[in-house]
Amino acid sequence: MSKTISQINAKIARGTVRVLRADEMTAIVRDLGPERAAAEVDVVTTGTFGAMCSSGVWLNFGHTEPPIKMGRVWLNDVEAYAGVAAVDAYLGATQPSRSRGIAYGGAHVIEDLLRGRPVTLRAVACGTDCYPRKRIVTTLTLGDLNAAVMSNPRNGYQRYMAAVNSGPRTLQTYMGKLLPRFGNVSFSGAGALSPLSNDPSYRSIGVGTRIFLGGDVGYVTGPGTQHSPQTGFGTLMVQGDLKRMSADFVRAAAFPGYGPTLYVGIGVAIPILDAAAARTAGVGDEDIFTGIADYGVPSRERPVLRRVNYAELKSGAVAIAGREVRTAPLSSFAAARRVADTLKRWIERGEFLLTAPVERLPSRGTVRPLDRRPIRPEDAGSVPSLQPSPDGRVAWDGTRCIECGACLSLCPNGVFRRNRSWKIRAVPSLCVGCRLCAGACPVGAIRPPDRSGREEAARDKTAHPY
Ligand code: SF4
Ligand code: SF4
Repeated sequence: MSKTISQINAKIARGTVRVLRADEMTAIVRDLGPERAAAEVDVVTTGTFGAMCSSGVWLNFGHTEPPIKMGRVWLNDVEAYAGVAAVDAYLGATQPSRSRGIAYGGAHVIEDLLRGRPVTLRAVACGTDCYPRKRIVTTLTLGDLNAAVMSNPRNGYQRYMAAVNSGPRTLQTYMGKLLPRFGNVSFSGAGALSPLSNDPSYRSIGVGTRIFLGGDVGYVTGPGTQHSPQTGFGTLMVQGDLKRMSADFVRAAAFPGYGPTLYVGIGVAIPILDAAAARTAGVGDEDIFTGIADYGVPSRERPVLRRVNYAELKSGAVAIAGREVRTAPLSSFAAARRVADTLKRWIERGEFLLTAPVERLPSRGTVRPLDRRPIRPEDAGSVPSLQPSPDGRVAWDGTRCIECGACLSLCPNGVFRRNRSWKIRAVPSLCVGCRLCAGACPVGAIRPPDRSGREEAARDKTAHPY
């Protein structure tokens, strides 16, 4: 017997839907088998709440008077990336503060915003004719922002390597404090509650899936960066509205010696369409395996000392090299259950409908490391500038032209032309050398006749402004 998402949504609307938390589903599938479990249960809710370093927010500050094209931006002295036009910036969770060091960073600014605290914005600019302002310092709150969109490139790992340290000194890592000589094991992930562990072939979780994100509704926008399905380490790229989120499910943290990170609550509702969906959603901690990697070896290829399942990791101790080593999670299982319970409540109240993915996540592919290669000038990426025309007229390179049309209104002599389908061409023989077209072409397809002083000035304007 199988169901469709529409049929499940109809049950949600009628208030007759049967929803279980993922860890409750484990026992149901074990007791009834997947066929009967699929008949009994419509939706399984998952949840995870862990350190998700690859997180951040897009912020839109609004235009000032006079306007500014912010070139560099700091919020509470934490730099945000501003190379996206005038008044937008992306604040990454792990970016540390200039003045407070690694104890405070982008994650803390995000939590401060969420808690309604005022945040100091500083921005500098090079100043342009259309954006003459060069500097601004002000305070703002989340309510002042036009947009605050959480956009996390890589969250919700399907599973995560546990960490141990064979070396002689304590290591301070993003996996927390690792005591020397196998003193402890640190692990991450929510085990049986983890969203992708309950849908390992990405049948229900895909692009466009509506999810719980930070206490509000969010969406999966694609596979996360470093999505590595062939090794069982799938990830999600997610997005949601920070303004509607809750500080109960978005919390800043800082690991000594490593720096800031953001704890984010994510939950996905898995539709139990058939016995296959029930079987995968019935996964238990003992079925989900990961490796214990030795962070005492300073290499990206850290040796994996043994395979281990989440039941063992959660038990409090695992055997490594013939001895019992204590284990502790970095993720909160209590908060993960709260995520899954909240999502369950939303569905039972008819407030959250399920969605089918508009696109499946890739089920093939692995992550490649960054290999160092020799630096060659031809790899620098710059396009050689167009050479001046020997006859003193405009030089035009049709192979560079993107047919934007920006040059069309500038030449009084009709050098630049278009046909009815907006195909652009130039007739350099009509050029009289007035240079009105200088600087008009955004891709360097036009080189007006040289005049040394003006050329110098034009070059100065292309220098890096900060
Ligand atoms: S230099 Fe003057 S005449 Fe020549 S193409 Fe440019 S705008 Fe036209
Ligand atoms: S401005 Fe440059 S890219 Fe745009 S149509 Fe003219 S030559 Fe082509």
